[in-house]
Amino acid sequence: MDIQNLIDSIAHDVAPYLAQGRPADYIPALAQESPQQFAMAVATLDGGLYATGLADKRFSIQSISKAFMLAHTLQRHGEALWQRVGKEPSGNPFNSLVQLEYEHGIPRNPFINAGALVVTDIAISEFGDSSSALRSLLREESGEPAIDFDYVIAASEAEHGHRNAALGHFMKSCNNINGGVDQLLAHYFRACSIRMNVRELARAGLFLANHGASPVSGQQRLSRSQAKQINAIMLTCGTYDAAGEFAYRVGLPCKSGVGGGILAILPGKMSIAVWSPGLDARGNSLAGLEALDRFTTRSGESVF
Ligand code: GLN
Repeated sequence: MDIQNLIDSIAHDVAPYLAQGRPADYIPALAQESPQQFAMAVATLDGGLYATGLADKRFSIQSISKAFMLAHTLQRHGEALWQRVGKEPSGNPFNSLVQLEYEHGIPRNPFINAGALVVTDIAISEFGDSSSALRSLLREESGEPAIDFDYVIAASEAEHGHRNAALGHFMKSCNNINGGVDQLLAHYFRACSIRMNVRELARAGLFLANHGASPVSGQQRLSRSQAKQINAIMLTCGTYDAAGEFAYRVGLPCKSGVGGGILAILPGKMSIAVWSPGLDARGNSLAGLEALDRFTTRSGESVF
């Protein structure tokens, strides 16, 4: 497969879709991104790194951080994590409140906001400064020490983060949050604000593609079984109430973020990152989905 040729041609083909998406506007600092931007990168386990479009431009990874935070926390805390958060698709938007009350404050999965807040609470108990622990992991796994938080975006989200505050306080009332909610939200917003480009993100995903062993840092980040578990949850829950459509069209474990990034994993082979800030109605990058659909359809690669 000529990966460079394929992604260059995909960048050309998705151009008409760029105008159709809308950047997230509930975080004002994200609303300023032009939707006319696109980048895609593929990192392969045999050491290849291919990129097209604005591959050097860093963007806010937002909920893609949830996949890495889960990996880090599951590795440290182990199976007990699943007593506080489920593994089932929610079928609801990422920031939904409704399910949480009738399910007694146990979020459906770690990739909706409520679930990520629980994972962050566990991460704080394990690592102390959980957002800095995540930043270290991403620096090591991308090989790029300059990766950092974007404090402007974190502050912008904090100022408007009433839904996440509501989720945190409700779960605290159900005894599913151990620490303070203000501290929890600060760590969660900081983790979401981390900026990376598609090259860095694709490289950072390689340990998920390589059964937990990182070819970048040389570390065994997860057991083989845990890497399978994270990929399974990415496939079924990583793109929220569009996970069925992603499985149907892309056929890869994916994790999206409202910054317009999507990380996709082809276990045993490669990690793919795509970015375009225009989102569809379910909060996933519209051109990003189009690009990943074309990548797996034209290459014939997927987990199926
Ligand atoms: N920081 C965002 C939020 O909590 C992340 C959501 C997302 O990327 N889907 O709303």
